[in-house]
Amino acid sequence: MLSISHALTGAYIATKIDSPWLSIPLILATHYLQDAIPHWDAGTGLTKGTKTRRNAFLQEIPDLLIALLLVLLLFPPNLEFTSNLPTIITNLAPLWGAFLGLLPDFLEAPRNFLGKEPRFLRPLNAFHHSFHHSIPRVIDGLAPQLLLLILIILTR
Ligand SMILES: [Zn+2]
Repeated sequence: MLSISHALTGAYIATKIDSPWLSIPLILATHYLQDAIPHWDAGTGLTKGTKTRRNAFLQEIPDLLIALLLVLLLFPPNLEFTSNLPTIITNLAPLWGAFLGLLPDFLEAPRNFLGKEPRFLRPLNAFHHSFHHSIPRVIDGLAPQLLLLILIILTR
């Protein structure tokens, strides 16, 4: 799915569930499950060779920037200074939640955009790929993500 979808889902879960022990695995599991929904994203077409790495990268940049903007807008982190670790974790939940929501895609980025995949990432990327179901039809592929975005905005 789009980085917008994964980042907002991660921020949403991290801010809704107090315990990181619960939210962290849930955020990661949700990434794979969301990717199983037929969808369109910047990487769609890379595997089949219908999109160049350059074009995928150029589409990924606005996706990531909008994702960051929406996370900050919809889940503003509390940047007050504190030395209490549990409070820091809670205050910054939208940021680490969004990052974890995107992590499986970040780990795949060297392969997708540079054609280089570190050997140690291969099993994890193969696991990611086994869930991934992208479709070339942009409107159909964005519809479930628009619905997700609306649900997140309405229930945050
Ligand atoms: Zn993914």
